[in-house]
Amino acid sequence: MTIQKYRDLVIPVAVLDDNRDILAITWSPGLLSGESGITFPEDVHVEIKTDKVDGGYLVNVKATGRVALICDRCGTDFLCPVTGEVRSFYTYTAGTESGDDIEVHVISTSTRKIDLSQDALDALFMGLPVKGLCIEECKGLCDICGANLNLTECHCSRDEIDPRWEALKGLRLDEE
Ligand SMILES: [Zn+2]
Ligand SMILES: [Zn+2]
Repeated sequence: MTIQKYRDLVIPVAVLDDNRDILAITWSPGLLSGESGITFPEDVHVEIKTDKVDGGYLVNVKATGRVALICDRCGTDFLCPVTGEVRSFYTYTAGTESGDDIEVHVISTSTRKIDLSQDALDALFMGLPVKGLCIEECKGLCDICGANLNLTECHCSRDEIDPRWEALKGLRLDEE
């Protein structure tokens, strides 16, 4: 594995040309994010593997990082580990169609650099959990007092009380 120090993911085509190794890059997306407003506040580890093939480059981008999410159950901000992988074909042949698991980008012979930051973002987005929970067994919020049940135990009674029993309870209390 070659550790390369790029400040971003703009990779010279010449590097892809003779790259037989995996490029490992520490990338900081900053607060850059997709339309969804999802952010990646920390550095992301990106591994790029390229194959020079007929008509272009097959590029595999794997990204591992942590995404800032809000827990679906308790509303707490937390950092969730994500990892994902995307495959792209950077080709000199216009009209090549994207496949199910591969994105096609047309480049020209004068292209000197390829920006893989979108690939890395896509990879991170692929890794997003369906349900964002701060911890798997998050207890959520009390629907009566709103307390975060991961942090505290409230004393709300969550038992459904049948109104008829409620009346009896009142009666007994009166007798005491
Ligand atoms: Zn939670
Ligand atoms: Zn409560």
